[in-house]
Amino acid sequence: MIAVAIDGPAGAGKSSVARSAAKKLGYLYADTGALYRAVGLYMQEHGVNFTCPEDIAAVAQQGEITVELAFQPDGQHVFLCGDDVTGKIRTPEVSMAASRVSAVPAVRKLLFQLQRDMALKNNVLMDGRDIGTVVLPDAQVKVFLTASPEERARRRCAELQEKGTPAEYETVLQEIRQRDEQDMNREIAPLKAAPDAVLLDTSELSFDEVVDRLVAIIREKTA
Ligand code: C5P
Repeated sequence: MIAVAIDGPAGAGKSSVARSAAKKLGYLYADTGALYRAVGLYMQEHGVNFTCPEDIAAVAQQGEITVELAFQPDGQHVFLCGDDVTGKIRTPEVSMAASRVSAVPAVRKLLFQLQRDMALKNNVLMDGRDIGTVVLPDAQVKVFLTASPEERARRRCAELQEKGTPAEYETVLQEIRQRDEQDMNREIAPLKAAPDAVLLDTSELSFDEVVDRLVAIIREKTA
């Protein structure tokens, strides 16, 4: 099995680029952020205080949260306690909740094996923050995809606009900076490039150029 780990900050284009590259290569595309988002949603719906890691850990350890991924013709679906929450997890509130809960070791532990198992059974392109460093340290290909915070905020705004839920550029930029700060500075599995990752800065590249470069890197490393 071939595993490709794609890590990088929020809004670098990981999911759309990885989805497209996976299609071209015939690999499964797994978006691990959706798992953390599902746990964030659970905490939000159950009124758990995000600023209290102990409360989050206690709930994560109760054994009542089940998260599953299903790969359907229209892409990955995420199920939380049996309910399909694929659409519900894409809000700015859930993004922030995901970033908070993901800093709690008990939450990472809950989701670790699920991610490892996906790579055992499939050729997979998996995106996240710690895939190359923690989840799949032996991945044949590791790419760290990044772009400036301003460019990422511009892209996120365009995406939200397209979805019919526009947001202010300054607010989006601030959220991106805050998530970067939280994701990079947490003690457990912080966002960082693996020493053997290829760095791909997408700030000046079009979507198609990024996909082509990614596919070329993967083909070269797995030839
Ligand atoms: O990738 P996405 O923006 O959907 O991820 C939501 C949040 O989940 C991130 O801000 C990050 O805190 C967390 N995450 C993580 N490890 C991963 C994937 C996502 O900590 N592998």
